[in-house]
Amino acid sequence: MTASPEIARAAYRDVPLYSTESISCDVDLSDNTNLWGAPPAAQQAIRELADGSFTRYPSAYALALKEALAAYAGVHQSWIVTGCGSDDVLASAIRALAEPGQSLAFCAPSFAMIPVFARINGVVPVSVPMTATWDIDPDALIATGARIIYVCSPNNPTGTTASRAALDRLIAGAPGVVILDEAYAEFAEDSRIDLAAASDRVLVVRTMSKAFGLAGLRIGYAVGTPAIVAEVEKSRGPYKVSMAAERAALAALAKDRTWVAARVADARASRDRLAESLRTLGLAPLPSQANFVLVPIPGAAAVARQMRERGVAARVFEGLPSIGDALRITAGPASMMERAIDALQGALACA
Ligand SMILES: *Cc1c(COP(=O)(O)O)cnc(C)c1O
Repeated sequence: MTASPEIARAAYRDVPLYSTESISCDVDLSDNTNLWGAPPAAQQAIRELADGSFTRYPSAYALALKEALAAYAGVHQSWIVTGCGSDDVLASAIRALAEPGQSLAFCAPSFAMIPVFARINGVVPVSVPMTATWDIDPDALIATGARIIYVCSPNNPTGTTASRAALDRLIAGAPGVVILDEAYAEFAEDSRIDLAAASDRVLVVRTMSKAFGLAGLRIGYAVGTPAIVAEVEKSRGPYKVSMAAERAALAALAKDRTWVAARVADARASRDRLAESLRTLGLAPLPSQANFVLVPIPGAAAVARQMRERGVAARVFEGLPSIGDALRITAGPASMMERAIDALQGALACA
């Protein structure tokens, strides 16, 4: 539905809502969350919230959580800003760092919410193609002259990573700020969180929704110099991390690190087996360093419908630049992966 010009800002007129096709399905492999469950100490912290302390506000800027995340990331707490999911951190960063009318460049395909977060902040999204080897194209990104350049590595939905050389070149030449989204860093061989210290024009964004298994609690954060972090914090505003979320996150960071590391190892092994099974079916999944695999399949929407009838949900992408139609499948426990491969095999047989 489109609001009349008297009600809506012009920039909002064509902004879509996130598609909320709610999936109730035996095996939901559509959102890249931790399919092994929630970390045990975080679960215990949530149970203990029954003490009723939530009649009060949480801390305005989640200082205790900043300290714990700073220790995890190897920086001082003044280098951390948190938010209601990394979605909130990304949107706040765009609002803080670009004037309305300026542009944000990204390599397509990438995180589907980025052009939306740009537009709801009056910023113009500009996409440039990835290279033939699934790397970012630093020169093409720089040539846009964009105020903000967004890079996701490992990239959603491809699972591929930006090379160190391309990232270094990008940061040396970027005309404005670089946002590096590392939502899937825990699953990758390499992180570039070091770039936050290399330049005060870099913000590295992370989340507790994926490896840490806390998506429903909405906890994201970014690492950058105190100067850039302070601007994002102003834009974000107070009280964005709920008391429940902060307590669970603190417990997970203090007591569940071994559990998380074990689940990350499980996810990586599962992802590699999944890719191998897909190749056995004659498919050509992209090389992934995340907890999911993107596999090009013409007519992916019809294939996904057939999989749904067999109780398995995967995320459909149609007409991705230089990929075409594809399914993105989250890596999970072996029993789920067997269901997924059976469902895909059945779906392909009737396509
Ligand atoms: C899942 C995801 C996020 C959002 O995570 P939240 O912290 O749950 O908001 C951000 N970026 C990318 C690339 C993602 O895939």
